[in-house]
Amino acid sequence: MSTLRQTLRELSNTMRDRPDEIVLDIGAGGELLVARIRVVATLLLMLMPLINILTGGGVAESIDGFVGTGLGLALAMVWLALARRKRRHRWLSFATSASDVTMETLVLVLIATQSPAASVNTLIVWSCYPLSIFMTALRNDGRVTLFAGMLAIVQYSALVLWVFAHADPHVALATAAYGEVSISNQVQRLVLLLVATLLTAVVVYRIQRLVLLSGTDTLTGLPNRSYLVHRVPQIVEHARKQDTSITLAIIDLDHFKRINDDYGHPVGDRALRHVVLLLQSELGRDEPLMRVGGEEFVLLLERPMGAAWERMETLRKRVAAVPFVPGEENPEPVTLTFSAGLSCCPQDAVDVSGLMRCADQRLRKAKQTGRNRVVVRE
Ligand code: GH3
Ligand code: MG
Ligand code: MG
Repeated sequence: MSTLRQTLRELSNTMRDRPDEIVLDIGAGGELLVARIRVVATLLLMLMPLINILTGGGVAESIDGFVGTGLGLALAMVWLALARRKRRHRWLSFATSASDVTMETLVLVLIATQSPAASVNTLIVWSCYPLSIFMTALRNDGRVTLFAGMLAIVQYSALVLWVFAHADPHVALATAAYGEVSISNQVQRLVLLLVATLLTAVVVYRIQRLVLLSGTDTLTGLPNRSYLVHRVPQIVEHARKQDTSITLAIIDLDHFKRINDDYGHPVGDRALRHVVLLLQSELGRDEPLMRVGGEEFVLLLERPMGAAWERMETLRKRVAAVPFVPGEENPEPVTLTFSAGLSCCPQDAVDVSGLMRCADQRLRKAKQTGRNRVVVRE
């Protein structure tokens, strides 16, 4: 029961909060995929009026069909162009999913102008709603799923209410293919849309969890190298555009091999967690720390070199000041220290690989000149 409650709470967080940037990055790829599928689907739909003419259908309705699908294609091309852009618009997934759902409603409204009963009896057009809701899973954003699902429910409910309100009480509301329009059938359709929304939200939640876990180091709970590869370049690029300085620090624990040799690997693991907890207790949300190797970490500080050096000195002193106790059998505290090399964007380099190279050289210098120090130049 408590697991269910926890899952529901996590689910509601997923749907409420803006997802992690890496998750959104994957979602941007999903948006592009959906945009391509949309173009192909509308191109295929454009064949319908042509087939209609070739099989002896009416010319006027075929022209209407051409105009309608042509407009749909134009819109699909606009969404594709926007999804292709490197600069990601936060509203794009909301806009595209709203447009997909609304297009389906417009088609139903068009059908309703000819035959109100057919508009709420048709299964083919209606099933595009759940399809659009499922497609939001590719955007990896629970808020988009919830928005699209709710929009579909509201729009379809409005159509059903309109059809029933305008129905002639003396004529049965029915179509030849599906029979009479029943209230219970319409309620079932709305429940199905709700189920589709919740199921898709659960899928989005699972995707978000998997991405998060694959980017998290299991020993320390810190972001792992994937954060350095995917997210740090974006942060550095953003700082460069804003004309602000950003400093990258590579931190390596000193003589860590000795801890393993003296006390064993499990104690070494605990020592690593001890250092990480100390660093985390000092660091703010805007100072991301990641574990990029065995006992190597990268820290990003959105400040110029001088201020970053002062920050690093505070961290270095804090780690050196709180010794680690290996265990009950070895109660003698051990002082752990680290060495760090710093590089600053834009002075030292303007991309992450340049910054890493420069910081690594300075880290080596810190090791050569005695360890337990922070080096900012060769
Ligand atoms: P230096 O001051 O030159 O950095 O000396 P060091 O002993 O720390 O040398 P180095 O950085 O090359 O070695 C890192 C050691 O850290 C090697 C490995 O035994 C240990 N290590 C790496 N990852 C882990 C881990 O996850 N758990 C434990 N217990 N030890 C690890
Ligand atoms: Mg090392
Ligand atoms: Mg080391």
